[in-house]
Amino acid sequence: MKEINYSELKKGGFMRQVQKGYFSMRLRVVGGRLSAEQLKKIYEVANKYGRGYVHLTARQGVEIPFIKLEDIEAVKKELSEAGIEPGACGPRVRTITACQGSSICPNGIIDTTELANECDKRYYAQELPHKFKIGITGCGNNCLKAEENDLGIKGAVKPEWEKSSCTFCGLCQAVCPTKAIQIDEKNKEITIDRDKCTYCGRCVKSCQTNSWKGKPGYLLYFGGMFGNNIALGKQILPILFSKEDVHKVIQATLEFYKKYGKQGERFRNTIERVGWDIFKKELEKAIENERSDFDE
Ligand code: SF4
Ligand code: SF4
Ligand code: SF4
Repeated sequence: MKEINYSELKKGGFMRQVQKGYFSMRLRVVGGRLSAEQLKKIYEVANKYGRGYVHLTARQGVEIPFIKLEDIEAVKKELSEAGIEPGACGPRVRTITACQGSSICPNGIIDTTELANECDKRYYAQELPHKFKIGITGCGNNCLKAEENDLGIKGAVKPEWEKSSCTFCGLCQAVCPTKAIQIDEKNKEITIDRDKCTYCGRCVKSCQTNSWKGKPGYLLYFGGMFGNNIALGKQILPILFSKEDVHKVIQATLEFYKKYGKQGERFRNTIERVGWDIFKKELEKAIENERSDFDE
């Protein structure tokens, strides 16, 4: 009898179950989005080949349990007719996750769906020393928990104040969650402590006279992991304003991991071992020609 290559099956999205001969099939759900037609196809496949239910994973994925080994090819074929592919498992870039972002959510600052699709096309399933998760969240509310990912991206706004239309009503100071805004009514001035500002954009949204202008951008977090060991991703670069810079940084991050990571070593541990300073320098090098986009 031909030996079953379980690691190859896992790589292709079919994970061995505790029940002998059965596999739970992980689907590639980019940015948490599935069409109604795709849901219909998943329903059909779960009924026909599985046990009539799916499992929703913690990373927006869908798994269809109880697929038999002999049905795997038929399942793949049926799902691919609806544009559904298996999700990557093992040591590689996993499915890109995202919140609804600015295309749907009124709080959204960046188009998370568009960025998730771009990341999927450029980086999905790249081979790495260990699993690598990219997650995109549309604003500081952080519904997708950017810091939990090996590389998390968060929509952000850099506020700039314009004196001429300000009525000094005090609202922006009141809504700022980090108390970064100081209003000097006597001298008719507003100052912002850039070290305290988290780029949440609440001051911009609150102002009735449009005296705060907001420049949308991206905050990136590196080295988050939530397994047996837990660490929050760190923001080591200033806010980036260009999406191409974001991609250059993602590419440089993956190159760094490929170059320095030991097989089986989580990305956070690679950075800790090699040094955050060296990692940061490599990222800065990737965008050095775009230094003007930096918020110093
Ligand atoms: S993180 Fe922001 S944009 Fe994304 S769903 Fe939450 S509130 Fe909306
Ligand atoms: S909310 Fe707008 S108008 Fe009011 S103090 Fe702030 S900047 Fe001025
Ligand atoms: S962007 Fe957020 S943290 Fe920064 S000054 Fe405005 S309200 Fe405060």
